[in-house]
Amino acid sequence: MAVFNRVESPRLTQDAIYSEVIQAGDGWMRVLKPGQVLRIVDLEGNQAADTLFYDAENPEDHYSAVATIAGQSNIYLSTGSVLRAESGKALLEIVADTCGRHDTVGGSCSAQSNTVRYSHDKLSMHNCRDTFMLQLAQRESGAYTKRDLAPNINFFMNVPVTPDGGLKFDDGVSAPGCYVEVQSLGSSMVLISNCPQLNNPCNAYNPTPIQVLIWEK
Ligand SMILES: [Zn+2]
Repeated sequence: MAVFNRVESPRLTQDAIYSEVIQAGDGWMRVLKPGQVLRIVDLEGNQAADTLFYDAENPEDHYSAVATIAGQSNIYLSTGSVLRAESGKALLEIVADTCGRHDTVGGSCSAQSNTVRYSHDKLSMHNCRDTFMLQLAQRESGAYTKRDLAPNINFFMNVPVTPDGGLKFDDGVSAPGCYVEVQSLGSSMVLISNCPQLNNPCNAYNPTPIQVLIWEK
């Protein structure tokens, strides 16, 4: 069940080779080289960072929630979780985590889910799927398309599974400054949508910025 595996990072922010703040509603896409570590910081707490990973050498092989969950026999992600691709290949490993638990079954918000979960007039509201699509469209290579959008990880988001197997969007478990770190085992593409959602108690109806930092191996 829910084991919070909180582990602090030995990495110092001044040693990072890259740092950027991603505003709520914005996306980010970048390759991690083998061994590089990416930290995602929940700057103000209880934000959802919707994230997908790909084998950068073979973009068709995207993150798989099913392979990841089956591989570790746990539906929540935390320190020690190996993030696997559809083929079963280990793409990255969570090497530090001060939040302690992350969702990988809730998926990302979309225009469609906004109408189903909230109301029909939410159809036009900005959502993570649109942010993912925009990021993919902006890549000149054309290597990534709509078909490559798979069920994602929601870092920092609290989606408890109830005893009868339902899903519940709940008040967040993260806090200002909480972070998670993933180390890339090979060459991995990272795709993030910093969720713009205004209708969900997970982020207290208030989407906020996140920060991304990268360290060399
Ligand atoms: Zn979202």
